[in-house]
Amino acid sequence: MHPKVEQKAAAPAPAKKAEPVKQAAVAPAASSVATPLKPGTPAIAEKPWVVAPTPTAKPTPQPAVPTPKAPVSTPVSEEKIISEVPELKPKEEAKPAPVAEPPPPKHRVSPMFVMMISSELAPVAKVGGLGDVVYGLARELEMRGNAVEIILPKYNNMRYDHIWSLTRAYENLMVPWYGGAIPATVWFGFVHGRKCFFIEPHSADNFFNRGVYYGQNDDVLRFAFFCRAALEFMLKTGKHPDVIHCHDWQTALVPVLLYEMYQHLGMRHPRVCFTIHNFRHQGSTGENILRATGLNRPEHYFHHDRLKDNNNHHAINLMKGGIVYSNFVTTVSPRHAWEAKDDGQGFGLEHTLHVHQCKYGGVLNGLDYDQFNPESDPHIPAHYKVQTIEKKYENKRALRSRFWLADSEKPIIAFIGRLDQQKGLELVRHAIFHSLNNRAQFVLLGNSPEKGINDHFLGLKQHLNDSPDCHLEIGYNEELARLIYAGADMMIVPSRYEPCGLTQLIAMRYGTVPIVRACGGLVDTVFDKDYSNRPLHERNGYVFDHADNAGMESGLNRAIACYYQYPEHFRHLMINAMRSDYSWNHPGEHYMNIYDHIREK
Ligand code: ADP
Repeated sequence: MHPKVEQKAAAPAPAKKAEPVKQAAVAPAASSVATPLKPGTPAIAEKPWVVAPTPTAKPTPQPAVPTPKAPVSTPVSEEKIISEVPELKPKEEAKPAPVAEPPPPKHRVSPMFVMMISSELAPVAKVGGLGDVVYGLARELEMRGNAVEIILPKYNNMRYDHIWSLTRAYENLMVPWYGGAIPATVWFGFVHGRKCFFIEPHSADNFFNRGVYYGQNDDVLRFAFFCRAALEFMLKTGKHPDVIHCHDWQTALVPVLLYEMYQHLGMRHPRVCFTIHNFRHQGSTGENILRATGLNRPEHYFHHDRLKDNNNHHAINLMKGGIVYSNFVTTVSPRHAWEAKDDGQGFGLEHTLHVHQCKYGGVLNGLDYDQFNPESDPHIPAHYKVQTIEKKYENKRALRSRFWLADSEKPIIAFIGRLDQQKGLELVRHAIFHSLNNRAQFVLLGNSPEKGINDHFLGLKQHLNDSPDCHLEIGYNEELARLIYAGADMMIVPSRYEPCGLTQLIAMRYGTVPIVRACGGLVDTVFDKDYSNRPLHERNGYVFDHADNAGMESGLNRAIACYYQYPEHFRHLMINAMRSDYSWNHPGEHYMNIYDHIREK
C-alpha cells in the first residue's frame, strides 16, 4: 500500500420604459428603446505595460521535499490506462476565430443605484466564474461611488461563514405563483462588504433547500420563482434602482416581468442590463412557466419575436426573453460576442442576437485584484509580488508537499475547472499523460455534477495514484485552488469554447503561465510568446489553435521547452503575466458607460 495521503476536497461550492426591441421579420407591438451604445462594445483598453527588468534566477531547482512515492515506470501509457477507466464521451468541436472590438470612449458618469440579481455570488454561492464576476463587478461599481445591492436565493448550502450580520429584512413577502402566492422571508447580510438580500421561500417545494445550486429537474421553476420574488421585493420595498443588472438564464425573466407586468404596477424607472456568461444553458422550457409566473397570455409570449425557442417551437426560451426585453445585452468578452452572433456559438440564439445587435456587445470580465492577490492571499504559505517572485517557489514546494509529489526540477502544469465538455476534457486528459511523458508534473482540481465524468477522472486518479509526478483532486475546494494557482508553473486551459475564462486570469495574477486554446476570452487575454503580434512585454503565455492532441501538444511542448532551455525567457513570461492588468478597472468603466447609456435621465 502506497503511503500517499489523500487530501479530501471540501464538498461543494419609465416614462420611456424598458421595452423589447423590434425584431426584423415580424414587428411586435412594442417599440424599440435601446439606442445603440455603440455597435459592439469594448475590448480591453490597451495599456502600456512596463517592460520587466531582465530577470536572472532560474525558475526551478528546489530544496528537497520528502518524496514518499514510488516512481512509476515511464513512459506512462495513456492508451492502456484509458482502456481501463470509464468512457469519456467526446463532444462536437468549437471553431477558432478572429478579431476583438474597439474600446469605447471614456467619459465621467454620475453615480447611480444598481441592483444585481444573480444566482451566484462568490464566495458564498459560487459554482464557476459567474460568482466571481458578480462579486467583483459589484465591488468595482461601489468603489466608483455607485450604490449597489445584490439579490440572491437563500440556498441552504451557502458558505454562511462569509455572511455577516444576517438578519430578517422582510417577512411574509407574498410572491404570486400559479394564481396563488408563496410566502417568503427576505434576509439581509453583508458578504465581504457587499449588501445582499437573500430570498427564502416557504413552500413544500423547498426550492433552495436542496444542498446544490443547480442540476434539479425543476431548475426553471426554482429560478422563475426567484425572478418573480426579486421584483415583488423591490416593488413592496419601494426600491427603484436606475439599473437592474441580470445574469444568465436564471434571471432572464426579470426584464420580461418588469416590462410586461411590474412597470404597470409602478416600477417605471429601472432599465435592465443582461449579461450572458454562457450561451449553452438557456432555460428552454414548457408553457407551464408562463402560468406559474403570471404571464397569462401564452399566445403573446409564444411568438418568435419574444420567448419562443428558435430551435424548438414548442418551447419557450428564457435567455431569449432576456435578450429581447433588456435594454442592453452583454456577453463576457468581445471575441465571444462575435463568436456567439456570427460564428455559430450562440446555441440557436444567433438570429436573435443579430436582430438585437444594436444593443449587444462584449465586455471582458475583470478579476478582483484584492481577492486574488499573491501578496496577501491567506490561503498560500508564501506571499510574493513581481519583485519577490522567487518566493513563488515556496508555494511550489508547499503544493508538492500537500500532494506528495516528488521534488525535482520539473515544472508543475495545472488544470483547475469544472469537469465539463466545454473545458475540453479529452484534451485535459491528454495533457496529463503528455506532461508526465515530457518531464513535467501535473496537478488537477475539478469536479462535475455528472457522475460519469467524475468516475472517469477518479479512474485515472486511481491508475496514476503511485505516480510521484501527478495528483488529481476530484472535488471543489476554493482554498486548495489558491495554492495551486500560486504553486504551479503553468496552467492549461484547452477549452472547446470559453466565453471569457477566469482561470487563465487568476493564473496570470499569480505568475503562472497560461497555455490556452484560441477561443473566446482566452484570445482576448493571452498573447502567445512566439507568435503574437503584440510587443514582447505584453506576451504572457502560449496559445494553440486546434482543439486536438497535436494542437495542444504544440503549445505544451513550447512551454516546457522554454522552461528548461530558456529559463530567463520563461521568467519574463511570468512577470509579463503578473503585470497584465485584468482588474475590474477597464470593465468597470465599460459597464458604467452602458448603464449611463440606458438609464432614464
Ligand atoms: P466557468 O465559469 O465556466 O466555470 P471560469 O474560468 O470563468 O469558468 O471560472 C471558474 C472559477 O471557478 C475560477 O475562479 C476557478 O478557480 C473556480 N473553480 C472551478 N473549479 C473549481 C474547483 N474544483 N475548486 C475550486 N475552484 C474552482
